[in-house]
Order: sequence, then C-alpha cells, then structure tokens
Amino acid sequence: MKLLVPVKRVVDYNVKVRVKSDGSAVETAGVKMSMNPFDEIAVEEAVRLKEKGIVTEIVAVSAGVTGCQETIRTALAMGADRGILVETDVPLEPLAVAKILKALVDKEGAELVILGKQAIDDDMNATGQMLAALLGWPQGTFASKVEIAGGTATVTREVDGGLETIALQLPAIITADLRLNEPRYASLPNIMKARKKPIDIIKPADLGVDPSPRLTTLKVSEPPARKAGIKVPDVATLIDKLRNEAKVI
Ligand code: AMP
Repeated sequence: MKLLVPVKRVVDYNVKVRVKSDGSAVETAGVKMSMNPFDEIAVEEAVRLKEKGIVTEIVAVSAGVTGCQETIRTALAMGADRGILVETDVPLEPLAVAKILKALVDKEGAELVILGKQAIDDDMNATGQMLAALLGWPQGTFASKVEIAGGTATVTREVDGGLETIALQLPAIITADLRLNEPRYASLPNIMKARKKPIDIIKPADLGVDPSPRLTTLKVSEPPARKAGIKVPDVATLIDKLRNEAKVI
C-alpha cells in the first residue's frame, strides 16, 4: 500500500512570530522555518506503518516555495522514500492544497494519506477534511491511535470529553493529533542517505490545479500586549483585591 504524507513548511514553533510592518502578513524573511509539528507526527506514523510491513512506499509531499524542499528532506531523513514538491509562490489555502493532494493521490494510486490535524501557522484545520470530501474517502481526524488490518483502519480520535474509536474502510484519510506518537530524530546517517533520495518538482498546473487564493487578507495584527502583573504581600491583600478591585469573588 502506498501512503502519501503531506508536510507543510511553517515558521518554527520556537520563533516569536512578528507581523510585517505593512500589516499584510506574518514576517517569514530571515526566520527559521521547520516542518509543521503535527506533520512530524504524521511522518512518524507513516514510518511505523512501513516498519510493520503494512505500507510499502511513503511519498512526502509539500506545496509551496522552493524552500519546502528542506521540509521534504526532513521527512526523507525520518524514513519517507521519496518526495514531491509542488512548487508555487502563490499563498496556498486549504482548498488549493486539497486539490493538489487529490490530483497526486489519483496519479500515485495512494490508498492512505496521513496529514497533520492542523498547520500551526494559519490554524486552518481543514485540508484533511477537504481532501476526504474531494476524494469521497472516509476520514479519521484527530487520531491518537491507528491500527490497520484487513483493509480497515481503526482510529481512536481525541474528541471533546474523551476518546472515540471508529473503523474506516481503506482507502482513507487520517489526521494526526499530538498524542499519536513521539516523532523520532533523524540520525546523521539517515540525513546523509536522505540526500540521495529523489524529489520530483512539479507545478500546480501540471496537476491541472489553479491555486489562486479565494480569500483576501484585510489585515494582520499582533495581539494586544498583556499588562504587567503585580505582587501582593499576603493572602489577605490578594483576597481584598480580587473582591474589591477585580470583583471576581
Ligand atoms: P491546515 O488545514 O492548513 O491546518 O493543514 C492541515 C494539514 O494539511 C497540515 O498539517 C499538512 O499535513 C497539510 N498541509 C497544509 N498545507 C500544506 C502544504 N502547503 N503542503 C503540504 N501539506 C500541507
């Protein structure tokens, strides 16, 4: 079974995000970029399925600027077999990415796609769901456990107030939540090996997809700065302030 794992290049989660001075977008020039953390979890799950002999080939896909090749290389170093970069400078919305992924699933004959549940830059949480709709495949989103046997994926989902376990008939879409696994660090030999693994570079038009955005960003602004707190000398003062100033008790 061939598995597709989409990996997005995002501002590294340790970086303090800054808004461009013209308020048009988040600044990415000169900023450390990394693989979306939920996609690392998706890659790890894909590699574990390959190690179990369930998956035969893992194809890592990234859509975006030339630099996304680095993100694909990280996936290759973790254990993906080959990569596809769908190169474009156009800012991509989930529907455009889902259309690109659908075209690749059809072209590659993949039977399973594991995405991150959400990209930490735009917080859309939509691409996996849109891809499932476009393909007409079942979806197991927010997965914290995945078991595959006899053409069925059993997915435990993190839902409000607990866990839900569902059975999906393959082919299917899964999106990875935080507790699904702990991604491995790529070893140096594997980073070296990944340099030799192939990455195909194509354009959205090669897949018949027009990635033009449908939304217009009006303004991007920083959240209001938090006011500094104060230290109180004792519990009595704290209670007095909570009761008479904040009026919360
Ligand atoms: P989102 O719907 O934007 O929150 O993203 C959910 C997931 O879709 C991500 O965790 C990735 O697995 C995938 N994805 C979104 N955008 C891209 C992209 N440009 N390239 C590759 N994968 C993507």
